[in-house]
Amino acid sequence: MNLRSVFKTFLLWELLVGLSVTLRTLFRKKVTVNYPEEKTPQSPRFRGLHAQRRYPNGEERCIACKLCEAVCPALAITIESDIAADGTRRTTRYDIDLFKCIYCGFCEEACPVDAIVETRIHEYHMEHRGENIMTKDKLLAVGDRYEAMISADKAADAAWR
Ligand code: SF4
Ligand code: SF4
Repeated sequence: MNLRSVFKTFLLWELLVGLSVTLRTLFRKKVTVNYPEEKTPQSPRFRGLHAQRRYPNGEERCIACKLCEAVCPALAITIESDIAADGTRRTTRYDIDLFKCIYCGFCEEACPVDAIVETRIHEYHMEHRGENIMTKDKLLAVGDRYEAMISADKAADAAWR
């Protein structure tokens, strides 16, 4: 052990170096947030819970083209369709398995009528078997509830494209 090491040992040098880091950090702006009371800003392009949208007159946007089903890399979307009474093609079944979904956003990108979207909602959970399947009714209910947020995010997103 050389003289330098002896001095360092007696003067608790490593401890002082460590404490100097603490002292420097003590007066810096805090970066931690007290979630869930405090939240960090979210991008309008955040990819969270899915929703199906309607037009302002209440008509479903989805035309059952199945592009979202074809593009989904996780095979999470299942669609069945039929001709509706008014002659339009509509989905009779539209399921998204949230356990398979990887939230890539490809379905939203592929949709020609902005029907399927990923909202900024990320605080959700499942308690019972089968709740991971977002059925058409559940997707439309999310869309109806959050349409104002979805259309505002779409407008903000368009500014970046
Ligand atoms: S976000 Fe991606 S993985 Fe999830 S349903 Fe859409 S395309 Fe499939
Ligand atoms: S959600 Fe969009 S891409 Fe998917 S079937 Fe409906 S219209 Fe087509």
